[in-house]
Amino acid sequence: MKTIDSLGDLTGKKVLVRSDLNVPLDGTTITDDGRVRASVPTIKKLLDAGAAVIVTAHLGRPGGEAKPEFSLAPAAARLAELLGQPVTLAGDLVGDSARATVDALEAGQVAMLENVRYDKRETSKVDEERAELAQQLASFADAFVSDGFGVVHRKQASVYDVAQILPAAAGTLVQNEVESLSRTTTNPERPYAVVLGGSKVSDKLGVIGNLLTKADRLLIGGGMVFTFLKAQGYDVGSSLLEEDQLDTVREYLETAKANGVEIVLPTDIEVADKFAADAEHKTVPANAIEDGWMGLDIGPDSGALFASKIADAKTIVWNGPMGVFEFEAFEGGTRAVAQAMIDSDGFSVVGGGDSAAAVRRLGYDEAGFSHISTGGGASLELLEGKVLPGLAVLED
Ligand code: ADP
Ligand code: MG
Repeated sequence: MKTIDSLGDLTGKKVLVRSDLNVPLDGTTITDDGRVRASVPTIKKLLDAGAAVIVTAHLGRPGGEAKPEFSLAPAAARLAELLGQPVTLAGDLVGDSARATVDALEAGQVAMLENVRYDKRETSKVDEERAELAQQLASFADAFVSDGFGVVHRKQASVYDVAQILPAAAGTLVQNEVESLSRTTTNPERPYAVVLGGSKVSDKLGVIGNLLTKADRLLIGGGMVFTFLKAQGYDVGSSLLEEDQLDTVREYLETAKANGVEIVLPTDIEVADKFAADAEHKTVPANAIEDGWMGLDIGPDSGALFASKIADAKTIVWNGPMGVFEFEAFEGGTRAVAQAMIDSDGFSVVGGGDSAAAVRRLGYDEAGFSHISTGGGASLELLEGKVLPGLAVLED
């Protein structure tokens, strides 16, 4: 993959940077500025190299229309604070305001274009439409740096098409993500343990399928575990269950056996009488979930079992919370896994938006993990072994 150094001398050059600034907002207040912070190193590196930086990014789903509630203004303001220098936000994406802003930009300065999804060509399925927008974006700059890891799995104008027009390279965030995730998909150090959870099996079919042939141990919790337990012949009460995935799960169990992959299922489950923070709850054996009860977390014995399977692993990938960690009563399994990963000296990677959110929400130090991915969908697709369009265009 081409890196910033491959772009040569950037002194006095204008560089278009695709960042991921898709922050959660409460009105105009950013409630988690993680993505803005993650975009800083690449921008700083380019400024230090003597370039002028033009940032392009999206926020939410404005559906191809300039809707003020999706303005990047809060992100531009936060970026300016973090950089300690002004960030001029253009009033549009590729219109007169953007052109004037870019023309006035000097080396060492930063400008931001308005929400790239204000333009419906950004996400168009028609190649010519995306190419047209990409041409307009490219006309602003001498080079392109792709640093929005959260969007590299998208074939979009500001991610994919523009990289075919300008000299293009991966920013440090994308480079870092790809290097870390690749260590888990290509020749991982063994034993290699994969912990999967989250709500649905159907969301993670590709990941399970790919990792089934690569991992040594597959630990399964979260909402998806009940489809596995049911496939084993157990009753799961009113737990989350995907009947239509039972056959697939049975096949997985067989493939695992054939490949010598150890599948670790919970031995106990924390069940609740309703889906609520204040639900009545108790721990039961995994094969004894009664009617009227729903499993909202793996139980404490399972937490300890999972931790022991993580402890001596040399590579650990975790995607998907073990339970409904948003409710305190059901955060135990997720805590057990997070703590075991922190305690292990293996290479530990967290992928998945909610898993990363769980790490922060439960108060763990992110530095305790080798890598926490910033891209939910993109990291899942890499773990699935897919070719990501936004990365493929950056190849040498
Ligand atoms: P990620 O974003 O990390 O890939 P997912 O989006 O697949 O994770 O799943 C996260 C959600 O799964 C969380 O909101 C959590 O509450 C939910 N979840 C976990 N365990 C259960 C369960 N037993 N029943 C219902 N939902 C669950
Ligand atoms: Mg999620």
